[in-house]
Amino acid sequence: MNITTSKQLFDRAQQSIPGGVNSPVRAFKSVGGTPLFIKNAKGAYLYDADDNRYIDFIASWGPMILGHAYEPLVKAIQEQVLNSTSYGAPTELEIKMAELIKSMAPNIDLIRMVSSGTEACMSALRVARGYTGRNKFIKFEGCYHGHADAFLVKAGSGLATLDIQAVPGVTAGVANDTLTCAYNDLPALEQLVADNKGEIAAIIIEPVAGNMGCILPEHGFLEAIRAICDAEGIVFIFDEVMTGFRLATGGAQQKLGINADLVTYGKVIGGGLPVGAFGGKQHIMEAVAPLGKVYQAGTLSGNPIAMIAGYTLLSILKEQPQLLTELDAKTNYLKQGLHTVLSASGVPYVINSLGSMISVHFSAQPVTNFASAAAANNKLFSQFFHAMLNKGVYLPPSAFESWFLNNALSYADLDFTIQATADSLQEIL
Ligand code: PMP
Repeated sequence: MNITTSKQLFDRAQQSIPGGVNSPVRAFKSVGGTPLFIKNAKGAYLYDADDNRYIDFIASWGPMILGHAYEPLVKAIQEQVLNSTSYGAPTELEIKMAELIKSMAPNIDLIRMVSSGTEACMSALRVARGYTGRNKFIKFEGCYHGHADAFLVKAGSGLATLDIQAVPGVTAGVANDTLTCAYNDLPALEQLVADNKGEIAAIIIEPVAGNMGCILPEHGFLEAIRAICDAEGIVFIFDEVMTGFRLATGGAQQKLGINADLVTYGKVIGGGLPVGAFGGKQHIMEAVAPLGKVYQAGTLSGNPIAMIAGYTLLSILKEQPQLLTELDAKTNYLKQGLHTVLSASGVPYVINSLGSMISVHFSAQPVTNFASAAAANNKLFSQFFHAMLNKGVYLPPSAFESWFLNNALSYADLDFTIQATADSLQEIL
């Protein structure tokens, strides 16, 4: 693969952007090599600056559920942009967006738009704290909830990829209120809650984790957290930045049948534009200003371009829920194909998958939490990543990230990916 232009762009980028990228995982630091600079994308394919084509399994880390440059979305954005890009005043479109989300996702009485998943999670935590009058909260090791200070403790995603244990700039005062527990470890969670009785404002979780690879909640785990939260007056926050409107039209809440008190959304609800949202039960969300005193604001919140993109995408998913069923079937097909070639290769491996999220771990043990994801042969994953990339298959450049499928993928693309996996394994093993 000739990537001369990407190499030149990467050199140039490093002169004016930290590490040459605007979000760390893009730098390929843990897998090595040169990050590809993308020129455009259409359907299931990314094209780099040297015009190489790649089958995309990142989907912009979630939102491209129906593929890149999806025509109804492009058209809606083009029409809206003629009416200006921002007003800083309310619009009917924001009401329609809120109503649409309420009609699709359970337990959303009130919802506030923001501009990123980070803002959504940061704001939801503030609301939980303001509502309960408590400071501490619990997050799970390997879960990523954006880069607000409070969440940068044992976070997955880019921090796991770069092996950053403690983030300079996050004060001990802030970090001390962040309690952590291993994913799927109910006894440890119960102990943590008991040790901090009456002090915990919230438990926040990725209901299906996508930031340490794809990790599923074990049977009964989320139900048990729900019961703990009810018993202890703790706000249960579902971070559905990745799972919302992807695992089901009603997100993980619907897919797994668990009710959250607050829910955060992100990239998906903007169809790839910078959006996030936090919402939930009336009595909690009433704490938010101007109804209550928990202040939260944003000049570009509810931005009309972002709203029309999200509204268009979510409307299509609501009207045609079979699109998600098709996508899940494709993921399942990929999973079966990967099982066939991985088991034939003899390498120890685990495939975790739900809906259209999937990840491969080179591990002989089940991968159920951050420790087991980290214990896998992630050096081998890096080699696998590059072998696949060379063949035109773009996987996330880290074993600590879920793959996201999009519905523009054809079965021929999936067959190609399965064959590329077989060939890559033969090359590297
Ligand atoms: N929560 C989860 C589960 C995420 O995966 C991410 C981003 N990958 C975030 C929050 C933060 O979103 P953003 O990058 O839009 O700030």
